[in-house]
Amino acid sequence: MNNTADVIVIGGGILGNATAYYLEKRGLHAIVLEGSDHIGNGGSSRNGGGVRQSGRDVRELPLVMYGIKNIWPTLSEELGVDCEYHQDGNLRLGKNEKHKEILTRLATNAKGCGLDVRMIDGKEVREINPYLSDEVTCASWCPTDGHANPLTTTLGYYKCARALGARFVTGEFVKEIRLVKGRAGKVVCASGDVYEGDNVVVLAGYDSRAILGTVGIDVPMTRSLLECLVTEAQPHMFDQMLGTAEADFYGHQTKHGSFVFGGSSGFEGYNKDNGTPISNAITAPCICRGIMKYFPILSKAKIVRTWAGWSDKSADGVPVVGAIEEVPGLYTSCAMTGHGFGIGPAVAHQLAQLIATGETDVDLHELRYDRFHAKI
Ligand SMILES: Cc1cc2nc3c(=O)[nH]c(=O)nc-3n(C[C@H](O)[C@H](O)[C@H](O)COP(=O)(O)OP(=O)(O)OC[C@H]3O[C@@H](n4cnc5c(N)ncnc54)[C@H](O)[C@@H]3O)c2cc1C
Repeated sequence: MNNTADVIVIGGGILGNATAYYLEKRGLHAIVLEGSDHIGNGGSSRNGGGVRQSGRDVRELPLVMYGIKNIWPTLSEELGVDCEYHQDGNLRLGKNEKHKEILTRLATNAKGCGLDVRMIDGKEVREINPYLSDEVTCASWCPTDGHANPLTTTLGYYKCARALGARFVTGEFVKEIRLVKGRAGKVVCASGDVYEGDNVVVLAGYDSRAILGTVGIDVPMTRSLLECLVTEAQPHMFDQMLGTAEADFYGHQTKHGSFVFGGSSGFEGYNKDNGTPISNAITAPCICRGIMKYFPILSKAKIVRTWAGWSDKSADGVPVVGAIEEVPGLYTSCAMTGHGFGIGPAVAHQLAQLIATGETDVDLHELRYDRFHAKI
């Protein structure tokens, strides 16, 4: 097998699959190295499906807005799979004055970046979603937010990248990047296999920190466990994405009727850690307690399954995306902080453009890897 390509992509999540797809579309050949035995085995097949702009840090907004305007609406057609993308808005719910303050601040910041988001009262909330309880007194409403199916989207990119010529190697765990004439040129795997390319893109979630560390680059991030649950299928109720100011749950109703909800018990740090993300018996009841206050109608819905996944959490809560200037030929998108599904297509699209042309449609300056360095 030829282990040489224009670009060696490390990580087979949504970012790796989509970057390979956009690179191949631009005529650059990609080899994708996935450390586990399965494509999409990380957060990309375990997430809550939120594709939202509201509630995001303003530094991240231009990129996520770009994806929602230019990529998501036609993605199912482009990939030939049903990404189950719904652009029916996001209600971020509040129950008291403190929540209203949090939501108002986020909405004001986002409006300043040109996002269509506004505060609404409890009455208007229930006009949009009549299933919500009277406890909800306010919400931020962003009509262009939505949700999609993480599995079909990630595997859709995989299928199309392969069809265009990208090569995927699973069970190929990357240990090290080596420089060739000062550029990132070689990728060494635990198997002993070596891959060579003109460019290397590190898209390996939390493991990106160790991989980038082999060429002296440190992206400050930690690993955190996120959990989700899915209910039995229910009659169709609504298509909005939901979140809360309190961050006690978020979720949506899927195409076949079940609800997918994510949330936290606060005890995730104490879960058994053998490397495999395992959900905690406490988390689902905690999420449900939150949901029942907002959605009494779901109090009898049965939970079918729970699951967990690792998230790569940036030190300042915002992803790191772009070129690593100290090491020519090296690029990354990591520390996605639980936002990487919704923003993933735009990140991959811009990375491929950057590698192919040296330019991007969206200014990535605020997402630079070296923003954490002490300023002299
Ligand atoms: C429970 C949960 C809910 C979430 N909800 C949302 C949401 O609603 N909306 C949203 O936008 N985001 C959400 N996220 C975050 C989102 O899933 C991630 O940000 C996104 O999937 C990141 O994609 P990725 O390709 O960077 O990472 P991953 O999907 O984690 O892929 C990285 C891949 O790299 C591989 N890898 C690791 N180390 C190596 C190595 N050394 N060599 C080779 N391969 C390696 C891994 O096996 C993995 O397959 C959620 C995450 C979780 C866990």
